[in-house]
Amino acid sequence: MAQIIDGKARAKEIRKQLKGRVHDFQVEAGHPPGLGVILVGEDPASAVYVRNKERACARTGIRSFHHPLAKDATQQQLEQLIDQLNEDPEVHGILLQLPLPSHLDAEPLLLRISPDKDADGFHPVNAGRLAVGQPTFVPCTPLGCIDLLQTAGVTLQGADAVVVGRSNIVGKPVAQLLLAEGATVTICHSKTQNLAAHVGRADVVVAAVGRPEMIRGEWIKPGAAVIDVGINRIDDGSIVGDVEFAAASERAGCITPVPGGVGPMTVAKLLENTLAGAIRFEECKLQE
Ligand code: NDP
Repeated sequence: MAQIIDGKARAKEIRKQLKGRVHDFQVEAGHPPGLGVILVGEDPASAVYVRNKERACARTGIRSFHHPLAKDATQQQLEQLIDQLNEDPEVHGILLQLPLPSHLDAEPLLLRISPDKDADGFHPVNAGRLAVGQPTFVPCTPLGCIDLLQTAGVTLQGADAVVVGRSNIVGKPVAQLLLAEGATVTICHSKTQNLAAHVGRADVVVAAVGRPEMIRGEWIKPGAAVIDVGINRIDDGSIVGDVEFAAASERAGCITPVPGGVGPMTVAKLLENTLAGAIRFEECKLQE
């Protein structure tokens, strides 16, 4: 039976460590690290995510600046708000909660966020920095995946890692991080042939697809480490991952549950990114 990797406990530990580091930053800088949060409209899931992030900020001592905009906000209003946050010396990270209402275009807005305040790590400049081995702001969920693998004591150097999913926010950056750790990485996607065979030879599987339990338990190599990023609501209202958890945990060496695995780590890494951004900001000020 697999070791269950407890993301909730690990995220709590990170928040506890961060609290001390945030306090030290505040003493030295004279103000806390700040995260600007933009939420457009009333999407209930987004509202819950934003509330969780702001609550986590408050518990850690990071100041969050909440900017709710009406669901009919214009592209121009968002551009102005992003410009304002880019200029604000008390804001070190900017978060644009996605998805946006359909009349808005997210891509130019994400590009408008200064790469130096890009707490989510979605800006192409930061994707490029990660690709060339100069990670600056790295997307939070992939950081959480690697942290959980390391916490579970999984050897990544020389491991065969298979990432299922190639999105810019999860699949590609987690593959880059695994590569940087010395794993041999295969990225699978909807056009991949014989997915079962790829998964079946992996020492490390990261599933980021968005399809309930599509990675079958019987595909998992005995002893493999399995990180399940998927969050899927099924007909009975419960949440399941992308991996068939019950069967996979009979074969895996360690596995993350859903919920309680990667999810809480994403918020913890957002807090870490915001503090790191604040430290870099203060260092730049000293050099000016
Ligand atoms: P996307 O929809 O952007 O990407 C899904 C990827 O899965 C695509 O690359 C797609 O391939 C691939 N895919 C789809 N169907 C198949 C298939 N049959 N076989 C193999 N690959 C397939 O999703 P995200 O990366 O944004 O998110 C993935 C999951 O992770 C979702 O459930 C999401 O809710 C969850 N998530 C969880 C987070 C957390 O905090 N725990 C944070 C972010 C996401 P192709 O590119 O060819 O279309």
